[in-house]
Amino acid sequence: MKKILAFPLLLALPLLGFSQSTVLNKQQLLQDIKVLSADSMGGRLSGSEGNRMAQEYIRKRFREIGVKPFGKTYAQHFRLENKRMVVAQATNLVGFVPGTTGQVIVITAHYDHVGTRNGEVYNGADDNASGVGALLAAATYFKAHKPTHTLVFAALDGEEQGLQGAKAFVENPPVPLGKILLNVNMDMLSINDKGELYASGAFHNPQLKTYLAQVKPRPNAKLVLGHDRPEQQHDDWTNQSDHYAFFQKHIPYLYFGVEDHAHYHQPSDEYQYVNKSFYPDAASLVIDFIKQADAAKLEKLK
Ligand SMILES: [Zn+2]
Repeated sequence: MKKILAFPLLLALPLLGFSQSTVLNKQQLLQDIKVLSADSMGGRLSGSEGNRMAQEYIRKRFREIGVKPFGKTYAQHFRLENKRMVVAQATNLVGFVPGTTGQVIVITAHYDHVGTRNGEVYNGADDNASGVGALLAAATYFKAHKPTHTLVFAALDGEEQGLQGAKAFVENPPVPLGKILLNVNMDMLSINDKGELYASGAFHNPQLKTYLAQVKPRPNAKLVLGHDRPEQQHDDWTNQSDHYAFFQKHIPYLYFGVEDHAHYHQPSDEYQYVNKSFYPDAASLVIDFIKQADAAKLEKLK
């Protein structure tokens, strides 16, 4: 009897106030961030076993969702090198959902973090399992709702080592750089006491504000614009995550993320502190924005 009753209820759910807005699978989103930030992933340092396990999980999710690889695999390998380490084969995972035009929006989130130090796992739940979870949610949404632009989804490695995955991506893009009209980068979406998600980068391309203005606040998260003016110095986030590699190639970008918090780059950045009502709404805001941008004539931005 209960089962019979459940059917009409489930069918009615999409009609109950979700009409224009993105419906996101909250359980799946929380599962993705939980798995990627588990102790077993060891903090996902580039070149580590935990990093490789995170890659396996993202590959599996890309396949489940139906994200297409550009070649035989999702992997884009690159050599990572800085003062601290050399990784001969670091790995971005890149795929796409085809649109109806050859023009491209690239959606990025780094999956690497800082690893394990003195036996303590730096889980990187907010930084940046949260961005990868949201990227997977966006891929799921657009796989079901065909976009106009081709959407490239790139889970990037080596961000914590100096944005190296993003730099490798723009040096060796899977599509010509000239076709990339916008980068949407997500880095830290899941912890903020005020329910604020920053959209940063519109200072450099004020036309992007038109699309941001069309994104309606959610019950537990709203967009705030800023952190993108040079006079803000360290509070200008222009060069602080992977979008900077796109900015340097004169590709318009929007970066979505929260302000720093007590768990930032601490072992306590773990699943238990993720705000389970803010995060799904924050991820939905980004998907709402991508919908607005995808519906627009983005070539005007360039
Ligand atoms: Zn990060």
